[in-house]
Amino acid sequence: MIPLSVPHLNGNEWKYVKDCLDTGWISSAGSYVNQFETMVADFVGAKYGIACMNGTVGLQIAQIIAGVLPSDYIIAPNVTFIATLNSIKYTRANPILVDVFQDTWQIDLELLENFLNEFTELKLIDGKWHSYHKTDGKRVFAIMPVHVLGNMCDMDYLRRISEKHHLVVIEDSAEALGTTYNGRHAGTFGDLGVFSFNGNKIISTGGGGVIVTDNPVFAKKARHLTTQAKVSSMDYIHDEIGYNYRLVNILAAVGVAQMEQFPELLKSKKIIDAFYKTELKGVGDIVFQNVLNDVNPNCWLFTFKTHHMRALLEYLNANDVQSRPFWMPMNQLEMFKDSIYISTDDQSAKIYENCISIPSSASITMNQLSIVVKTIKNFYKTL
Ligand SMILES: *Cc1c(COP(=O)(O)O)cnc(C)c1O
Repeated sequence: MIPLSVPHLNGNEWKYVKDCLDTGWISSAGSYVNQFETMVADFVGAKYGIACMNGTVGLQIAQIIAGVLPSDYIIAPNVTFIATLNSIKYTRANPILVDVFQDTWQIDLELLENFLNEFTELKLIDGKWHSYHKTDGKRVFAIMPVHVLGNMCDMDYLRRISEKHHLVVIEDSAEALGTTYNGRHAGTFGDLGVFSFNGNKIISTGGGGVIVTDNPVFAKKARHLTTQAKVSSMDYIHDEIGYNYRLVNILAAVGVAQMEQFPELLKSKKIIDAFYKTELKGVGDIVFQNVLNDVNPNCWLFTFKTHHMRALLEYLNANDVQSRPFWMPMNQLEMFKDSIYISTDDQSAKIYENCISIPSSASITMNQLSIVVKTIKNFYKTL
């Protein structure tokens, strides 16, 4: 079986983990945690990085720090991995789901802008401007763009919208390590950005996340909240409800080794992407994800659209080419079927019905890539 996406552990992972075991520094204190945070922050060009247990809790902490309150609205794309929405519910906020552009599969900013203009109003409360929903009066506090598959939307446009409507921006950059927009890295456009290092992501610590920000107050707060909100290094005194969310040293050690190899891995991902694009162009009814000119994507997981998605999925998996369907849109899930969903022609449903992801591990061989392409071509010949 040619796997969909497996971690690439060919660097110093073993050595650094052994170092943790040899020295006894396996838990949340230890030098690899700080080193990993610095490496990620430096790589993306953020002032601060705060490592946590995973991307999901990173998103939760980012919202708390930004000041979300229960019953606030947070805007999110309807096409995303469930973790985005789960994190919104952890803070007891509610999502406003927005459909995505048909070609880039990123949040539809035109729909969003029209919605905000028509259905929200700005109010000055306690010296602060925020948007409020005209019908139910609830605050529309933040927008959480998701860089779906390591692609990005028009971030200049998104920032114009967020500034006009006084929305906090928290980027779900879980899939976008290595992606830039006009040379600026994903995760650094918002007030806070969150990366994931889960097993299936472009690099991995097994499980892990990093919150990035340029705001020193946010950074301090993130560190505080993820370590049980302890105020003194000696005494067990805590000044608010904190969380035990800090990444452990043994996983950060893997992260440091992964970051060392990241530039090379990113190159492999781009080669894989270019190969598939050349070889699969014009095959069957395949349509690639569109990438805006300003975006330089990390090419994390190769995914395309075809009306024969279900049949192709079965064919590839039966022929030892591991492939996967895309996420069910959030508005179709039981928990969110009553959420506000802004859409005119439900592109999310079409993306769900047509998208398929194919093997994209950084370590995939040229021979394996050829087999994947040949198997796909054979499938279309059977139609
Ligand atoms: C993976 C992912 C997350 C969650 O990250 P974990 O580290 O797995 O908790 C959040 N959002 C998106 C879009 C993701 O792909």
